[in-house]
Amino acid sequence: MEFDFDLFVIGGGSGGVRAARVAAGETGARVGLAEESRLGGTCVIRGCVPKKLMVFASEYAKGMHEAADYGWEVKIRGFDWPRFRKRLEAELDRLEGVYNGLLENAGVRVFARRAMVADAHSVRLADGKTFTAKHILIATGGRPALPEIGNAGLGITSNEVFHLDELPRRLLIVGGGYIACEMACIFNGLGSKVTQFYRGAQILRGFDDEARGHIAEHMERHGIDIHLGTTVLGMDRAGGAGGLLHKPAGGIEVRSSTGDTFTFDQVLFATGRIPNTAGLGLEAAGVELGRRGEVVVDEYSQTAVPSIYAIGDVTDRVQLTPVAIREGMAFVETVFRGNPTPVDHELIPSAVFTQPEYGSVGLTEDEAAAREPVEIYCTTFRPMHKAFIGREDRVLMKLVVSKATRRVLGVHIVADHAGEMIQLAGVAVKMGATKEDFDRTVAVHPTMSEELVTLKSPVRTL
Ligand code: NDP
Repeated sequence: MEFDFDLFVIGGGSGGVRAARVAAGETGARVGLAEESRLGGTCVIRGCVPKKLMVFASEYAKGMHEAADYGWEVKIRGFDWPRFRKRLEAELDRLEGVYNGLLENAGVRVFARRAMVADAHSVRLADGKTFTAKHILIATGGRPALPEIGNAGLGITSNEVFHLDELPRRLLIVGGGYIACEMACIFNGLGSKVTQFYRGAQILRGFDDEARGHIAEHMERHGIDIHLGTTVLGMDRAGGAGGLLHKPAGGIEVRSSTGDTFTFDQVLFATGRIPNTAGLGLEAAGVELGRRGEVVVDEYSQTAVPSIYAIGDVTDRVQLTPVAIREGMAFVETVFRGNPTPVDHELIPSAVFTQPEYGSVGLTEDEAAAREPVEIYCTTFRPMHKAFIGREDRVLMKLVVSKATRRVLGVHIVADHAGEMIQLAGVAVKMGATKEDFDRTVAVHPTMSEELVTLKSPVRTL
């Protein structure tokens, strides 16, 4: 049977765009791609990229105060959010254009509308057009999930946070994961009064306990009011009627599980993300969905329907852009180059762009200790840059080491630029470096990361 396309990709985010352009540009496949929103997806349009630019913007406040202590004459007049937002929007437009250009140059036919799966070999666009394809790739990503509480719609999510008309004076952030903690630090840096509610005992569940405590302590010291063991019971517009959705005139009144009532100008829910599979026709086509609505795939990203594959956040494996890109590349290698390539999800380094940043790779102390006897090497210290001007900020560097094999099972760094450092530590850990490999590497002096190769004795063995 002759198909209209060799591959039809639904979703133009990081994973979908990469798979489409490599399949078309490098293997000569005839590729179509449908995107209902903007090319670039969550990462480029409403995630990693605008977030990181906001991190940069927010860090200048601290930087300017530090500059003053270093001897600079500095006068800080405040942050001009509309000016920043205009520049941010222009940058996102530019990046969207770049993505469009990449697809065009590779010969991908782009459809700027929603698509759904009609059957194992065909997709239907929102305008009614139907195309057949030998393979279909689902790369529709995920979206923020709102908790089920009264009037949750008065709050915003990370989708709206980059489009605010003005900086909220009083901001509540709900959640304790990546997005909640990053946004808390960003808005705190930009000048908002930030309160954070987290339902558990400590923020950043799943990460190393010592690092979590260290970050929380620094966030609080820098002015973020973290309420642990606290959730939102209900919300109302303060002062009754009036005000637009997402911008109630008198603010938003929030009732907490601790029995208190607070008023905020904005409430940001960062309470996790769910896969975008609703209304895609997947189940009718025979694709299996999991409990959270995620597309169930095997190690080659293949679904229960052999011609349909899925990559990225919609599969709810590891919700990170570089992972989606790798899954896209492995898919092309498997399907279009005849070289079955499973996706390697082991030892993925990542960074949380809190202030200070947290970079980690491998196991936490508790995870490692539950598997085998380990030695923990850990130090905290005031980095030179901060000690010079009397700041109390401390850096944390930690290695989790197997007693039996001496392999470094985990690296945890809380420090400015920890994201940059963990990328390189990740290479060593992925290669199977031992503690002794770290030890025989000469320190780069004076740096913070030199502590990673000069950790002498374990602080504890477990
Ligand atoms: P996370 O899963 O990281 O965090 C969700 C948070 O919301 C958790 O603290 C969770 O609590 C809490 N929560 C969930 N449901 C409720 C509820 N009903 N009421 C109150 N609290 C609730 O999701 P994020 O949205 O922060 O981020 C999504 C993913 O995006 C991340 O997992 C990450 O993979 C990716 N990401 C990566 C970034 C990076 O690499 N720097 C940056 C941003 C996102 P609990 O812990 O108790 O479950």
